[in-house]
Amino acid sequence: MATETPVDCDVHPVVPGMVALLPYLDEMWREMVVRRGLDELNSISYPSNAPLTTRADWRDASGRGASTPERLAREAMAPFGTGTAILNCLYGVQLPFSEDLGAAFARAVNQWIAHEWLDRDERLRASIVVAAQSPELSVAEIERCAADRRFVQVLMLVMGDQPLGKRAYWPIYEAAQRHGLPIGVHAGSSYRHPPTPVGWPSTHTEDYVNQAQAFQSALTSLVTEGVFAKFPRLTVVLMESGWTWLPAHLWRLDKFWKGVRMEVPWVDRPPSEIVRERVRLTLQPVDGPADPAQLGRLLDHMGSEEMLLFSTDYPHWQFDGDRALPEGLPAGLARKMMVDNPRATYPRLSV
Ligand code: ZN
Repeated sequence: MATETPVDCDVHPVVPGMVALLPYLDEMWREMVVRRGLDELNSISYPSNAPLTTRADWRDASGRGASTPERLAREAMAPFGTGTAILNCLYGVQLPFSEDLGAAFARAVNQWIAHEWLDRDERLRASIVVAAQSPELSVAEIERCAADRRFVQVLMLVMGDQPLGKRAYWPIYEAAQRHGLPIGVHAGSSYRHPPTPVGWPSTHTEDYVNQAQAFQSALTSLVTEGVFAKFPRLTVVLMESGWTWLPAHLWRLDKFWKGVRMEVPWVDRPPSEIVRERVRLTLQPVDGPADPAQLGRLLDHMGSEEMLLFSTDYPHWQFDGDRALPEGLPAGLARKMMVDNPRATYPRLSV
């Protein structure tokens, strides 16, 4: 694999429909889909007709983005000079209350990705999709997939059954650390709870904007529950989270940690230090000002050039044309984001 070409750390292959997954389901689950008339599981906070879900010029006749590697290469890789793309499949395996059903579909999605995508374009890598409503079955799926080194990360949603730092999830983190897999936390909800802390909103706008609050809560939970202390080699990647909120949030977290850190003795240094060392964030959506000077100040406030990872977030509509990098980005930082930082974050990209 070329080591100098950009790595796109967040692209979304589209499952064309449940029919595509049927060959990868066990016979029992195949029959269950047919007899129970199970509907598509393709909604994790992305209504198919919402403009954000798929950029207009990336919609096919069915209104969706790429469901083949050829089309993905043409639309999501060639225009950006991308040498490696990491596939994060957002099929709704996290939605079913049946843990077995969720796990069966996670397994089918991962097998579909391996056979229909990774086998057909050697530049592709993927995240292991897990149905985190069952940490036990998620670990089994990680163990099954980890031998295939084209899987470089474990994919979870930012809003699941409970805050991501809780001990229920620790077996997932243990397995990820053991296999050299970062935990990728992507925007999206299994809708066990309202996507805002003040109740159910009325619009997709509120849902999407409030994803940043969910990321703040999840990040705080990971720090304060002690995940980074318990798993010293685990990296967490926040994906499609936005990132301009991070400096202010870390300032606030540091401030209150100083006052009440007696309740979290395992957080033995300022949370901002832990986060800058162990957490990474994908570039798009750039939720900052268009003015390069203002954006430069925000980048200074991040306090590290190691944290941002290049992403297009294909096919979501985060920018027009091929302007995936914000204007005025220093050349050195652009190279770090596109090449050095992804390779430092994902050890499996280098072997
Ligand atoms: Zn994304």
